[in-house]
Amino acid sequence: MVRYTISTGGFLMNIDDILFSYGEEDVPFKALSFPIFETTNFYFDSFDEMSKALRNGDYEYVYNRGSNPTTRLVERKLATLERCEDARLVSSGMSAISLSILHFLNSEDHVVCVDEAYSWAKRFFNYLSRKFGIQVTFVPPDADRVLEAITKKTKLIYLESPTSMRMRVIDIRKVTKVAKELGIKTIIDNTWASPIFQNPKILGVDVVVHSATKYISGHGDVMAGVIAGDKEDMIGIFQEEFKNIGPVLSPIESWLILRGLRTLEIRMKKHYENALVVSDFLMDHPKILEVNYPMNPRSLQYELASSQMSGGSGLMSFRLKTESVEKVKEFVESLKVFRMAVSWGSHENLVVPRVAYGDCPKEDVNLIRIHVGIGNPEKLVEDLDRALKKI
Ligand SMILES: *Cc1c(COP(=O)(O)O)cnc(C)c1O
Repeated sequence: MVRYTISTGGFLMNIDDILFSYGEEDVPFKALSFPIFETTNFYFDSFDEMSKALRNGDYEYVYNRGSNPTTRLVERKLATLERCEDARLVSSGMSAISLSILHFLNSEDHVVCVDEAYSWAKRFFNYLSRKFGIQVTFVPPDADRVLEAITKKTKLIYLESPTSMRMRVIDIRKVTKVAKELGIKTIIDNTWASPIFQNPKILGVDVVVHSATKYISGHGDVMAGVIAGDKEDMIGIFQEEFKNIGPVLSPIESWLILRGLRTLEIRMKKHYENALVVSDFLMDHPKILEVNYPMNPRSLQYELASSQMSGGSGLMSFRLKTESVEKVKEFVESLKVFRMAVSWGSHENLVVPRVAYGDCPKEDVNLIRIHVGIGNPEKLVEDLDRALKKI
């Protein structure tokens, strides 16, 4: 896999440097592991110092519903990884999504949103529409469909690529080129690819959000979100939405994310390696109708996918050749290495049948999503093979 460097403020930085050392030059007591600054408050030596900090609330350490040194270290690393000027950690992926959406909208504005976006992002738009008269148009994950839906009142385009149930890839450059010309802001949920495999900022997106609950923390034990973008947008989101609503991440959890980040690159490479083995197996299997994994070179979306991503994650979906709920049930219950659970992004191998959700359309009864972890892929293939033989 390619090694690539990242441009930050005019100098080139290697991924290793960001993950292992960036921002960690002046650690107290020369501790090798960065400290957890578990404090809510910071004191001042003089009136002038205090007054200066209180007047310039953006980056000073004053109070924890603001900035914290442990959290700020991780935020700087994440901003650099995403090639953005700044980033903020928040208490969940959903708060990253809702805060950044709120920042760009006023009542009566119009939004275009990809209809396969994370379901709670769509629910949030429906909530805004009910309460504040925001107009929302949901469109299939296709650049032309997004652009056709733009009206004179459109202020925001909300994207997710690949989408998290069918992994549909959207031509990001095509959307952002037009959005920039029209002065429409763009937000993308980049959770699937992680900052290792896709950097939407260089594809023209304004604000990048992540559920750091997934790969960025990476061990299935922390809930967090990331918002990354230009300084101007980030100061706005920080001062208006973040401080007013207050979804603060605790310093301990920021530190757990820091620990997770040390292995982000090697974990992502292993997820990709394993996902290629598993998706190849599924593509060749006679009981499988369709496999959704855009970073497999055999995928119909590979050309577009590989023009914007340098690798793939461990999340994919497929359709069994059946329309029977009973068969789907038997299949998922026969799996042993893949455990039935929502969420994804850690070492775990997980499975969710779409039909387990109450709102499953009839044509999606056979749709199954799996998350491929970082263990031995042969064990995963054996598990799937055995379960497929049972149906
Ligand atoms: C999980 C997820 C979210 C929500 O993140 P939380 O941390 O659970 O709030 C948003 N987008 C995608 C693509 C996700 O998978």
